[in-house]
Amino acid sequence: MRTINLRGKTALILGVANKRSLAWAIAEALGEAGCRLAMTYQGVRLQKNVSELASKHKNALVMALDVTSEEQVDGVFATVKSRFGRLDYLIHSIAFARRAELEGEFRKTTREGWRIALDISAYSLVALSNRAARLMTEGGSIISLTFQASQRVFPNYNVMGAAKAALEYNTRQLAYELGPKNIRVNTISAGPVPTLSARGISGFSGMAAHHRKKSPLQRNIEPREVGDTALFLCSDLGSGITGATIYVDAGYNIIGL
Ligand code: NAD
Repeated sequence: MRTINLRGKTALILGVANKRSLAWAIAEALGEAGCRLAMTYQGVRLQKNVSELASKHKNALVMALDVTSEEQVDGVFATVKSRFGRLDYLIHSIAFARRAELEGEFRKTTREGWRIALDISAYSLVALSNRAARLMTEGGSIISLTFQASQRVFPNYNVMGAAKAALEYNTRQLAYELGPKNIRVNTISAGPVPTLSARGISGFSGMAAHHRKKSPLQRNIEPREVGDTALFLCSDLGSGITGATIYVDAGYNIIGL
């Protein structure tokens, strides 16, 4: 039983593809705490799935959003404004790189592959935070999802490591700029979880097994643990935390050998 109460609060959550998505674990945690949810899906093929999942939460709003479209981004925030009036939380749980860029040699990353990965996975946080901040009239919390490939080499993450490094920098700069409005900006660095996107990374299951073996907790994390951390960061319990990269990785990041 969760004791954090988010009744009267509103959240916009990007990145639910299916029930294994980390965004869905966050939606569940915030929704169970009484928060009103707006969720976006990318592409018509995900619409049915996401609408079905969202129907579990009372009055949830479901909208299409591809972050590469400025028009769609503006449309989503206009709808949130007209339906919710204001916004308290923004959850950015999206990333994309072309398959060819997630295997082989990093130095062969194409200009277009780099542009696509950094645009969708990192620039989008800047564009969305700018719009969200205008609706966060009573302060707020912005959370994204990152991975330790931002700091260390994980073979095959390649351009996604560069995108996560940019995302973590964005988190600090946005935290600095939005702090005076009492808007906190943090990123959760999750350990490997077998989601749709993760399975697209060459050698993912071997890496998850390595994490399991080497982590202090000697296991992989559960999506629920990411949801709970996001809930804590949204709530008043996280009121003193901003600009941080918070590891939810069973402790793997502290290990040297
Ligand atoms: P997922 O496949 O369930 O979610 C990724 C989401 O990104 C999907 O919903 C997809 O539709 C969305 N997306 C991709 N391109 C988009 C675009 N142009 N516009 C809007 N949405 C778009 O996988 P996930 O693992 O839940 O990924 C969520 C976040 O968690 C990502 O940022 C990912 O890098 C991060 N993360 C995942 C892991 C892991 O092991 N699964 C670990 C650390 C961080």
